[in-house]
Amino acid sequence: SYVGAALCLRVVLEQTTLAPPGELRVVAVLGTGVVAPDTPILRADDLGALRGDGIFETMHVRAGSPWLLDKHLARMAGSAAALQLVLPPEADLRELAHQAVAAWPAQLEGALRIICTRGAEAGSPVTVFATVGPVGAPIRRARRDGIAVLTATQGFPVDLRASAPWLLGGAKTLSYAVNMACLRWATASGADDVLWTSTDGYALEAPTSTLVWLAGGTLWTVPAGRTGILAGTTARWLLDHAGELGWGADERLVTPDEIVASDGAWLTSSVRGVAGIRTLDGAALRTSPEITTKIRNLLGFPD
Ligand code: PLP
Repeated sequence: SYVGAALCLRVVLEQTTLAPPGELRVVAVLGTGVVAPDTPILRADDLGALRGDGIFETMHVRAGSPWLLDKHLARMAGSAAALQLVLPPEADLRELAHQAVAAWPAQLEGALRIICTRGAEAGSPVTVFATVGPVGAPIRRARRDGIAVLTATQGFPVDLRASAPWLLGGAKTLSYAVNMACLRWATASGADDVLWTSTDGYALEAPTSTLVWLAGGTLWTVPAGRTGILAGTTARWLLDHAGELGWGADERLVTPDEIVASDGAWLTSSVRGVAGIRTLDGAALRTSPEITTKIRNLLGFPD
């Protein structure tokens, strides 16, 4: 209700002033709406917790609304099909997203997650909830200063996942332990992010973002279907609007050496937006901070 939403907004605004920014969080449960952020949501036998068996979407919250919600819900439906999960009706997911975002201070950018797990091991409908949290300092720093990236193998050839549906290529599953381990490895090695490669030498994607690069006046990205990488919503939107920056747009396979020799390369993702790749395995790229700013402005992200 309006009164409930206003009350939640007041609570959130109070948290904004009382709690450190990292603790500001909205939680909403499908069918219930916004609940206190420390409300228990999962049963002990929820398969999302036991096996990472579920799917999610993350999107940018700006001026009080989730950016590209339709595209994210469409990708979520694709992920659900890949895992044979029965999602609630799209209208219910949309309402959940709007309930969560309505309780977030409209003047603050945020990160909205919609999570859907397979539910209880004993058998149950899916567990569905949403959270909104703040955009952290490392993300804002990467937008502003760019990132040092290391290549790391994903351990299979570029075309493997197209013929191995159990590897869940293209699905955004909750099984991100490997992705996060890879980012910790990068940090421990003095870098900011990772570019995953195939065993036959192609660049794929990053653990939480999509590779785009500029070469010959065209903005390129890696094709999603045949490689099994996640089809990035941010990269798709950027390539669809590349003409506004005077570039063509296309997809192809690429090697890390070609990325180093390109006219600039970036990692794009829903919450970070765009981060310029300064170095790849220590080799300097020609990524220009001015072009990064133009891309960021086109995507509508703050500094
Ligand atoms: N690739 C992976 C593995 C991701 O987790 C993400 C982030 O969600 C992306 C790419 C970028 O996708 P999007 O731009 O839709 O956030």
